[in-house]
Amino acid sequence: MLKIKNYINGELIEPSKKQYIDNYNPATGKVYSFIPDSDESDVELAVAAASAAFHSWSNTPKDERSRIMLKISELIEKNLERLAVAESVDNGKPVSLARMVDIPRAASNFHFYATGILHYAAESHSMEDTAINYTLRSPVGVAGCISPWNLPLYLFTWKIAPAIASGNCVVAKPSEVTPMTAYLLSELCIEAGLPKGVLNIVHGYGHKVGSAITAHPKIPLISFTGGTKTGAEIARVAAPMFKKLSLELGGKNPNIIFADCDFEKMIKTTINSSFANQGQICLCGSRILVERSIYDKFKKEFVASVNKMKVGDPADAASRVGAVVSKPHMEKVLSYIELAKEEGGTVLCGGHQIKLEGEFSEGYYIAPTVIEGLTADCRTNQEEIFGPVVTIMPFDTEEEALKHANSTQYGLASILWTENLTRAHRIANQLHAGIIWINCWLLRDLRTPFGGVKSSGVGREGGFEALNFFTEPKNVCIKIK
Ligand code: NDP
Repeated sequence: MLKIKNYINGELIEPSKKQYIDNYNPATGKVYSFIPDSDESDVELAVAAASAAFHSWSNTPKDERSRIMLKISELIEKNLERLAVAESVDNGKPVSLARMVDIPRAASNFHFYATGILHYAAESHSMEDTAINYTLRSPVGVAGCISPWNLPLYLFTWKIAPAIASGNCVVAKPSEVTPMTAYLLSELCIEAGLPKGVLNIVHGYGHKVGSAITAHPKIPLISFTGGTKTGAEIARVAAPMFKKLSLELGGKNPNIIFADCDFEKMIKTTINSSFANQGQICLCGSRILVERSIYDKFKKEFVASVNKMKVGDPADAASRVGAVVSKPHMEKVLSYIELAKEEGGTVLCGGHQIKLEGEFSEGYYIAPTVIEGLTADCRTNQEEIFGPVVTIMPFDTEEEALKHANSTQYGLASILWTENLTRAHRIANQLHAGIIWINCWLLRDLRTPFGGVKSSGVGREGGFEALNFFTEPKNVCIKIK
């Protein structure tokens, strides 16, 4: 069985203690490879390699950094099918989704920042005829990048690409639950000629490798995507060391549907925004608020469409819903469905595990679930479930919809359906979220600021925001008179 290796100082190497963790295929519930159980000694090696590479890489002309990154992007595209299958096997997501979204986006992340860095400029401030100020932007040094399991290669590269484009060297940790495409990426980086030490990938548990990265005194910057609780722990450790932090955390996003929406388009997109990737996208709209006059019509058509979604083998092109990522995660999601019932909710469809046949009989499948009859302030409607579970709730007025939408501790994304332009702008302005989609979902322009407010995070990724994060500004003031 394949043993994944760490990528340190340009080489694929075993973890120092030669210990491994089982890697499960969520579709079958069977172990199919082994993940390095690395510890702080492996992180130490990675930091040493990144520190040694920093002087040379940060002084490498942008054009050359860009050329190597474009090569990595091309190699991801060339290996699209292999990477998509690997992502699907590792994560449980339908291979069609990995083929259409995850892997192309990983290639775009490298392409976007390979070209973005060529257009990145700093500011100058003139004090009329007294002085002129200009800002230098320098890479920070060794960046720590920690990413989650839901969009493995997509989110991993979303951090690494701006970090290395701006001249930093990186010590990165993918989620231990989904390490495979990060491992395949390390092979592609070697093939592309990325100089040794520029990117180092250390596999293993969050509480060992992740916390060693967070606490390391030679890593002055951490870019983290994951749960709010982990984000708080990282902030607690990093704050006294004055590290730069970018935290992209959880969400409990509202999907607000007004009676004047384009109903057909809304239903089609709402199926996706509810259940894409088994609902395991931080941007999914898990609380659906529907104007009362169309509530019954919505309920009938939405539930009918959900009932038609095929749950099955992620490799089967007909499967719309694959397996959730792990057994503990499946149990957590199922326990939330039980909680919803205890809180007075009525399950309109789904609500249970699905047992498939044959080799998939031990896989982690949950029927897409729609629940109604809950109050806005119950735990089911306040806590992140991160699975194929949505609640639906009627509202009467715009004020009521806004009040419910803004009522959680989270503020990542919001979705809004209305053909009334004035109302769309008015509500967008009042929603507590970093990202608002009106009459669409997950439409992404990589130049736009990406991130959340409240417990959904600190800082923004995307466009020049990420390049600002991965560089330190230095003002130079010259007196001219
Ligand atoms: P976790 O917070 O559990 O883990 C994220 C990463 O952090 C993993 O690599 C994990 O390793 C690591 N980690 C765990 N503990 C520590 C620690 N003490 N110190 C440093 N690193 C640690 O999140 P999940 O992987 O469960 O991902 C799901 C969460 O991510 C959801 O809350 C979701 O909303 C959020 N998310 C947010 C996004 C955004 O852009 N705002 C996008 C996507 C997801 P290991 O896996 O080994 O435990």
